[in-house]
Amino acid sequence: MENCIFCKIAEGSVPCKKAYEDERLLAFHDIQPQAPVHILIIPKIHIDSVNRLEEDTAELPAQMIMAAKKLAKEYRIEHTGYRLVINTGKDGGQSVDHLHMHLLGGRSLGWPPG
Ligand code: 5GP
Ligand code: ZN
Repeated sequence: MENCIFCKIAEGSVPCKKAYEDERLLAFHDIQPQAPVHILIIPKIHIDSVNRLEEDTAELPAQMIMAAKKLAKEYRIEHTGYRLVINTGKDGGQSVDHLHMHLLGGRSLGWPPG
């Protein structure tokens, strides 16, 4: 999709620090990390948000969670703990309109979020 920064990262025209890749997904380090480990996991196809998931894309969130699980082990936060976040829409704090899951860890995270 034109003018989508995460589509550009997925197609390789904008660089990223890659953490994981398979046929459907890409994971890369957040440009403004909010924790020692802050990785974004995205589908390679453009989907605006959770609101745009349909029957034929419903398996993507499960695949994103499985990728997060692998990364949590690789980045050694599986036992200390981590948080998976999908911000959705204005009130949810979504700033990039391409579905993405944050993997955050490496420090104690506050709750509730602001
Ligand atoms: P959101 O606020 O939509 O849930 O999360 C978007 C995230 O994408 C933010 O944490 C922001 O720092 C990150 N981000 C925005 N643009 C870029 C970029 O060009 N490269 C990388 N690696 N991260 C980005
Ligand atoms: Zn996109």
